[in-house]
Amino acid sequence: MAHKIAVLPGDGIGPEIIEQAVRVLGALGQSFELQEAKVGGAAFDAFEHPLPPATLALAKNASAVLFGAVGDWKYDSLPREFRPEQAILGLRRELGLFANFRPAILYPELASASSLRPEIVSGLNILILRELTGDIYFGKPRGVRTAEDGPFKGEREGYDTMRYAEPEIRRIAHLGFQAAQKRSKRLCSVDKANVLETSQLWRDIVIEVAREYPDVELSHMYVDNAAMQLVRAPRQFDVIVTGNLFGDILSDEAAMLTGSIGMLPSASLNASGQGLYEPSHGSAPDIAGKGLANPLATILSAAMMLRYSLDMAPLADRIEAAVGKVLAQGLRTADIYEEGTTKVGTAQMGDAVLKALA
Ligand code: NAD
Repeated sequence: MAHKIAVLPGDGIGPEIIEQAVRVLGALGQSFELQEAKVGGAAFDAFEHPLPPATLALAKNASAVLFGAVGDWKYDSLPREFRPEQAILGLRRELGLFANFRPAILYPELASASSLRPEIVSGLNILILRELTGDIYFGKPRGVRTAEDGPFKGEREGYDTMRYAEPEIRRIAHLGFQAAQKRSKRLCSVDKANVLETSQLWRDIVIEVAREYPDVELSHMYVDNAAMQLVRAPRQFDVIVTGNLFGDILSDEAAMLTGSIGMLPSASLNASGQGLYEPSHGSAPDIAGKGLANPLATILSAAMMLRYSLDMAPLADRIEAAVGKVLAQGLRTADIYEEGTTKVGTAQMGDAVLKALA
């Protein structure tokens, strides 16, 4: 049976970059059942909701969701629940997507795009696994109140609750070890166990889970040190597993090491392997409709979809190799252009990947 894929282009450059990823999927000689629906601002304009029931139902019934990007400044004055970005939060919640995989790969040809020296960063290939549904972002109680004690008693104070339940830590730890098994068998768990109780439990559980993966070498690092090591000697890392807050920050830091947000895919998975695949960047309204957007992050997200949700790793390898080939040929969209290379637009980059696949 053909795999069902929900295709949600969204706003801004979303439709342009998704178009190229869909062409690449179409060139693989497989029959996928692709069904498209509106999401984000485009859905708000048509149905007065960023995640209409029909779009959500389509996503729920699919093996995977291929997502472009959402958002535009023109929606900034809407009440929060109607803003385009709520569509992603809604999909994460409704599909139970708790594991966010963000690779940071620096292709040798793009080494000079990084803010770090090429000898420090060239060949970088890190996978950050961020827990997505727990931690201080969702912990209760939270709010603003009048301080009842301490040096600022009687003043207004904001407060949040950092929390992780044991099964939540256990399931993300398993995915971290399994990802490490498929790579160089090294896993670094990042926490702040010297200060936070939540982190101490995190560390204890990760150590317990490690017993089931004797072939993986586990290390632990405090988040402040991890942030430092990522810019000092990033190639020491292979797979990093961490909580929602630390992962949010570290995955953006790692992304910037590669110098181009237009190159970075991401995947968010639930317990049954169903996933949402999207580029790490946003809808780039500043270049939308101009044919300038780099479609490679979205094409690489489609490759991740084949690997993680559709069990088609050899096809994912083919796409990734084709992207490497196109870069080696010197083709660049404006975001990764440098002197001596050939500047191409969104569709031309798609054409080149198709040619490299053939
Ligand atoms: P952005 O990632 O959209 O753009 C940042 C900069 O990177 C811009 O200069 C843009 O032109 C450039 N850029 C991004 N993707 C590119 C690509 N593929 N090729 C070439 N250049 C690219 O971030 P922003 O400007 O802060 O946000 C714009 C909108 O996107 C906002 O409404 C924001 O809320 C939304 N957003 C959505 C997502 C998502 O859909 N997952 C993520 C982040 C931001």
